[in-house]
Amino acid sequence: MRLADVSVVPFLDLRGTVLEIETDLEVSWNDVIANATFFGGPVLRRFEMEWAHYCGTRNAVGVANGTDAIELTLRALGIGAGDEVIVPTNTFVATAEAVMHSGATPRFVDVDPSTLLLTADAVDDAVNARTSAVIVVHLYGSVAPMYEINAVARRRGLIVLEDAAQAHGAREGHRRAGSFATAGCFSFYPGKNLGAFGDAGAVVTDDDALAGRIRVLADHGRTSHTNHDFVGRNSRLDALQAAVLLAKLPHLDEWNRARRQARVLYQEWLIDDRVVWPAARSDTESVVHLNVVLVPDRDRVRDELSRRGVQTGVHYPVPCHWQKPYAAFASMPLPVAEHVAQHLVSLPMFPHITEEQVQRVCVELGRVLQVVGS
Ligand SMILES: *Cc1c(COP(=O)(O)O)cnc(C)c1O
Repeated sequence: MRLADVSVVPFLDLRGTVLEIETDLEVSWNDVIANATFFGGPVLRRFEMEWAHYCGTRNAVGVANGTDAIELTLRALGIGAGDEVIVPTNTFVATAEAVMHSGATPRFVDVDPSTLLLTADAVDDAVNARTSAVIVVHLYGSVAPMYEINAVARRRGLIVLEDAAQAHGAREGHRRAGSFATAGCFSFYPGKNLGAFGDAGAVVTDDDALAGRIRVLADHGRTSHTNHDFVGRNSRLDALQAAVLLAKLPHLDEWNRARRQARVLYQEWLIDDRVVWPAARSDTESVVHLNVVLVPDRDRVRDELSRRGVQTGVHYPVPCHWQKPYAAFASMPLPVAEHVAQHLVSLPMFPHITEEQVQRVCVELGRVLQVVGS
């Protein structure tokens, strides 16, 4: 029988990050309120500048969320009806959704069986006469092979975008996710590594003209005070969310380091041949947005863990090309993604997770695997 007072290990607990920024946040939050500049204004501009600087790009444009960041970038690049955009099927559905909203068609491809990331070969194989772009997803916080993908894209005449919504601060060498391609798209949804207190997003790019076009599209196509030369959108990053992001940004590297450290403990303490860890690419530094492993009998493992007070997630149980709106665009089976979708489980991961919590998850998972395996 379970003891009633055994505490649950949550999948995600953001209270620690909120506590750390309380004092700093008060200043910028009150500043926004005192000046009553809820849209635009100095706090938003400062966040955009600091985010661009952090990512190592010339520009950052704040938008309402990560999905808009991708859609508006595609539209600002003139990608739409008649175009195909290569998307890994193992991603959050928003990557594909943004392509649909742009008017283009997603072309789903499989991922590498060891890293679970997009590969240059998969991109090369999927190109046809209509292919105009590829969206590379730095899934789970790990940087995809950008140099190889960029090389294929150059040869095949494709535009490359990065969906870095799970990879704030992730690096290959000295470069950060979002800075390898034409543009990098970020979400600051509360659960992301850099999260607001609501929805928010941004696009980073070295291309000043592209940044300007995204800014116009995100602001009702406004080109001057009175002129709206394009059919744009309302996609703003508001100043209060920017204040939260500004207060959190100085902590991001430390929080990412804490995630990596927790991941190391998981790998030390979870010694079981049946647990398979996605491979890390050499010379990269993941930010471990999600702590994903592959296990046998995944759904039963999750049920058993839940009974023992360990919360888990699955990212993602259904690959995009198996989701109803996208079935028509899946031209071939994508066996790696289909296989891993049945075996993935995301274990608790957040910057302030304690050693005790990690240990408890490892112990419980070890026990569960023995039950499941017998
Ligand atoms: C969160 C996420 C998005 C979408 O971001 P929103 O801010 O929720 O619109 C896009 N792609 C990936 C990979 C994500 O994880």
